Amino acid sequence: MRILLSNDDGYRAPGLGVLAEHLSAIGDVVVVAPDRDRSGASNSLTLDRPLRLEQGENGFYWVDGTPTDCVHVAITKLFSAKPDLVVSGINAGENLGDDVLYSGTVAAAMEGCFMGCPALAVSLTGTVLAHYSAAAEITCTLISDIMKHGQGKNWLMNVNVPDRPSAEQLGFRVTRLGRRHKGASVVQQTDPRGRPVYWIGPSGPPCKEISNDTDFDSISQGFVSITPLHTDLTAHSALVDLAAWIGQ
Ligand code: MN
Repeated sequence: MRILLSNDDGYRAPGLGVLAEHLSAIGDVVVVAPDRDRSGASNSLTLDRPLRLEQGENGFYWVDGTPTDCVHVAITKLFSAKPDLVVSGINAGENLGDDVLYSGTVAAAMEGCFMGCPALAVSLTGTVLAHYSAAAEITCTLISDIMKHGQGKNWLMNVNVPDRPSAEQLGFRVTRLGRRHKGASVVQQTDPRGRPVYWIGPSGPPCKEISNDTDFDSISQGFVSITPLHTDLTAHSALVDLAAWIGQ
């Protein structure tokens, strides 16, 4: 199995190194990641300048662009045939609910999916982030399961793993995306020349929902969350009403 591994935290990120090591036991791994932290880059492509693809001191390739650039350039230039699998992660921090729209981790996997490869985004949830190895082991287990059942399908999955040792992992839950409340407001500071500058504030807390089948619920109960994603943002339920309004 030929695996392309990327992330949005940069080619030196600990989660990337640990996952590369574990994935090497189940396939041939090529790592192509941004040259620095591009968290929050979403599905952006760099179109206003050329990109550099170089090999770093740790043997991983880096691109001076976004996670989407990395996967796009890697599949086009480094692989003679498309890889069997694209994996993104392990991200330093959760990607739950609305986060997937901003996430560079999910975007790298999504680019793999757009380019015809099954793809998986993996994030470690929690604040300490001590157990990347446990998350990498779980990722390998999940990959062998889904390759067995979903061979040949162009699936895209968002996986979040609680930050706890392997022996304390409780297992998997298949979930839907939850929602967050509005994020904290922008934080204003002053630069050394007295001008205002702005930091985007942290994301909001999860919304309380009637059912308990969301990714947030799964993580809060200590289970690994797997959410299958698709890229069609069409509001199918609005098609009929909208067509009626415009007399179509
Ligand atoms: Mn990140």
